[in-house]
Amino acid sequence: MQKKYLTEPSREIPLFGSYEVVVLGGGPAGIAAALAAGRSGRSTILVERYGFLGGAGTAAGLSTFCGLHAVVHGKHEQVVFGIADEILQRMQSMGGLNQPHLTVQNKITAQSYDISAFKIAADELMAEAKVKVLFHAFAAAVVMDSDERIDALVVETKSGRFAIRGEIFIDGSGDGDLAAWAGAPFEVGDGMGNMLYPSTMFRINGVNPEKAGRAWELIPTLMEEAEQKSGKPFPRKKPIVRPQRNPIEWRANLTQIKNPDGTAVSGIDAEQLSYGEVEGRRQCWDVFQFIRGVTPGLENAYIVEIAPQIGIRETRRIVGEYVLTEDDILGCKDFNDSIGVNGWPVEAHIKGDVKFVFAPAGSRGYNQIPYRITLPQTIENLFVVGRCASMSHEGQSSARVAGTCFVTGQAAGTAADLALKHRITPRQVNVRALQDRLQADGAFLGPVMAMQE
Ligand SMILES: Cc1cc2nc3c(=O)[nH]c(=O)nc-3n(C[C@H](O)[C@H](O)[C@H](O)COP(=O)(O)OP(=O)(O)OC[C@H]3O[C@@H](n4cnc5c(N)ncnc54)[C@H](O)[C@@H]3O)c2cc1C
Repeated sequence: MQKKYLTEPSREIPLFGSYEVVVLGGGPAGIAAALAAGRSGRSTILVERYGFLGGAGTAAGLSTFCGLHAVVHGKHEQVVFGIADEILQRMQSMGGLNQPHLTVQNKITAQSYDISAFKIAADELMAEAKVKVLFHAFAAAVVMDSDERIDALVVETKSGRFAIRGEIFIDGSGDGDLAAWAGAPFEVGDGMGNMLYPSTMFRINGVNPEKAGRAWELIPTLMEEAEQKSGKPFPRKKPIVRPQRNPIEWRANLTQIKNPDGTAVSGIDAEQLSYGEVEGRRQCWDVFQFIRGVTPGLENAYIVEIAPQIGIRETRRIVGEYVLTEDDILGCKDFNDSIGVNGWPVEAHIKGDVKFVFAPAGSRGYNQIPYRITLPQTIENLFVVGRCASMSHEGQSSARVAGTCFVTGQAAGTAADLALKHRITPRQVNVRALQDRLQADGAFLGPVMAMQE
C-alpha cells in the first residue's frame, strides 16, 4: 500500500534551554554519560521518555548487570569500574544488590539487583552531579546547524514540543534515534534482515525457597522434556529463571518475540512494537502457567510484574570511526584508544535459541573498547554510546550489555568535557588525556602502556 502524506504547517518551537551537553536516553550508557559530564561541571541535561532511569535495566525488567566481570586467565574478576562501580556501591548501601553469581553454565559472572534500587540510586547520583533530568520527554527530531553539526534536539512533552540546544550531544537512546535523525550512517541487523530477537521479562513472587532449592537448574530440563513429549517447542531455549535478593522473588527470561512471519520484532517499527508487547505478555503468561505447574516450590507463586516494555536487544548500530567485531571480542583485542574493557561472551539471540561463544578458555578473557566506537561518521558534535555504538551485529551481541554501556557512556561524558574545554570536536580529543582522566576517575582500561592495534 502506498503511504499517504500530509504537510505539517511550520511553527515556532519554544526553547526549553541551552546546555553544554545534551544526553538522550537514561539507560546505563546515558546515565554514565550524564554523570561524567555533570561532574565535570558542564551544564548537562538528560532526556528520558519514561519517568525513571535505568533503560532496559529497569523498563524492560532485566534486573541483572552483565559485562562487569570477565574470566581473566581462569579467574572470575570484576573488570568494569569507575561510574559503574559507584552505582554498584550506592545500590549496595541501599541493600539493593545481590552477590555476583555464576551464569551461562557457570562460565561467566553477572550481578542482579532490585529494580527500584537502580532507579533511586540513579536519581540520587544525577542530583548530586547537578544534571537536569527531563522525564516524560520523547525525543522526536533534531534541528541541524549544518550537515555535520546538530543545533537542537526536539522533544515532545505533556507541556508541548520544545527544542533543547546543545554544544555536544550524546545519543544513549539504544536505537540511535538522535544519530539517525542527524544523518549519521547506521546498520540494522546482520545485513540480511535478521536482528537479535527481543524478550519480555517478568518477575515471580511467592516462591517457597526451601522447597524450590536450586530449581532454576531443573527448569530448563523440565521444559525440554515437555517439548519432547508434546512436540510443541517453547518460544526459546536456554531459559533463565533465578532468585532475586529476596529468595521469594525470582526473575524470568523465558520468551522470544517473533512477528507472525517468524522474524524478530523490530524495536524501530511502531506497529511491530505494538504487536510485540501483546505477544510478549501472552508468552509470559503461558510459560509461567507451565513452570508453576511442574516446579517444586512454585505452587503458590504468581507473576508480580511483567516488565513495562518489551526488551529490545538490537536495532540501529551507528557506523563510527571503528566497528567492534566478534573477532575483536573472541581474540581479546587491545586498542591504543582503550576506554575500558568487555568480558561478556557473544550472546546471539537467534530464532528459537540463544547461542553463546566465549573467548578461549585460559585467555585474558576481555577485549578493550576503543574510543572510536563512540564517534559516528559525518557528525562532528555527537557521541553514540551503549548498545547503538559502532559495533558489528556479532560484536554488539556481546558488547551491548550494561558493563560496556557504562564504559562508553563514561568515556563520552568525559570526552565531551575535554572537547568543550579545548574548543575541539570529539574526534580531535587527545586520547591519552582522556585515558588519564578515566583512570583518575576509577575506570579500568586494561594494559594502556603495552598496546598494539
Ligand atoms: C530481554 C533482555 C535481557 C537482557 N539482559 C541483560 C542482562 O541481564 N544484563 C545486561 O547487562 N544486559 C542485558 N541486556 C542488554 C541491555 O540491552 C543492555 O544492558 C543495556 O540496557 C543497553 O543500554 P543502553 O543505555 O545502550 O540502552 P537502553 O538500556 O535501551 O536505554 C535507552 C534509554 O533511552 C530511552 N529512549 C530511547 N529512545 C528515546 C527517545 N526517542 N526519547 C526519549 N528517550 C528515549 C529509553 O526509554 C531508555 O531509557 C538485555 C536486553 C534485553 C532486551
